Amino acid sequence: MSTQPLRVSRFSRSSIQVSFEFFPPKTPEMEQTLWESIARLTPLQPQFVSVTYGAGGSTRERTHQTVERLARESHVKPAAHLTCVGATCAEIDEIVRSYKAAGVQAIVALRGDPPGGAGKAYEPHPEGYQTTADLVASIKAIGGFEVFVSAYPEKHPESLSVNADIEVLRRKVDAGADKAVTQFFFENDVYFRYLDKVRAKGIDIPIVPGIVPVQNFRQTANFAKRAGASVPQWLADRFDGLDDDPATRRLIAATVAAEQVIDLLDRGITEFHFYTMNRADLVYAICHLLGLRSKVEKQQAA
Ligand code: FAD
Repeated sequence: MSTQPLRVSRFSRSSIQVSFEFFPPKTPEMEQTLWESIARLTPLQPQFVSVTYGAGGSTRERTHQTVERLARESHVKPAAHLTCVGATCAEIDEIVRSYKAAGVQAIVALRGDPPGGAGKAYEPHPEGYQTTADLVASIKAIGGFEVFVSAYPEKHPESLSVNADIEVLRRKVDAGADKAVTQFFFENDVYFRYLDKVRAKGIDIPIVPGIVPVQNFRQTANFAKRAGASVPQWLADRFDGLDDDPATRRLIAATVAAEQVIDLLDRGITEFHFYTMNRADLVYAICHLLGLRSKVEKQQAA
């Protein structure tokens, strides 16, 4: 009889940590969906909840409002995304200081996409931060923040090689980054190979896998193309023929995401970052599968 490998996922665990990413809402309806999703997910006690910063700083006000409301009204730790695009160092420092004044203690520091959109040549603002590492160093100098940065298991589309990409990560870590969150990926082996290379370069901060539940396959595939994340044929096959069948699509989306996180868990990963797309149900179900339980529900039931 062959011995089965240990399935960590079959045992109860108290060490799982999650974080959730949201984007700032554009309309009153989207605002309602966002706060309902936050209300559903925050009782799972995430490590942090992050709010993205629109391309070129386009959501500056809305990101700020969302992050400040989280800091004011919820018990979670909000993390504000911030990019170097289209602003001087002084303007960016001002934003950082205003977050500090609002009690925000974490920032996701990014270079951002070129103002003309992903794929165009990146030109730093002449009086702005020239690299993400410079932004990280400045936030750390202002003080009082944990700083998170991006990582790319399949390399950033502008990067010449995985090694060059890891060198950029190393500079961000040397500047003080505390943790990296990865671009999403669908093949776990890609993540583990990347992790091996990062560790071999002496980078020892947590590299948290970014998980995107596929709510809409076409949208995700388009986004993946721009972000340089590969979409395996098996994933396309799983959603094939379901364009007009949202109920089955949702079940498949849950199954695909569950398969991915359970495999990561069985291979030793205990921290996960979810790109929620501002929707709670799928992410809530996956977190339940990971063993997380809503603390509020438990308190009410007691
Ligand atoms: P970096 O990590 O600084 O660099 C990425 C790559 O750019 C490098 O690997 C290299 O190829 C090239 N590069 C950078 N500096 C140099 C250099 N000095 N010399 C040569 N090459 C260099 N975008 C937003 O607009 N708003 C968001 O809220 C947002 N959130 C994100 C969250 C996560 C977790 C991730 C993974 C990405 C996010 N992005 C966001 C996208 C990100 O802004 C883009 O991918 C952008 O093109 C790169 O920003 P970065 O901070 O990842 O760049």
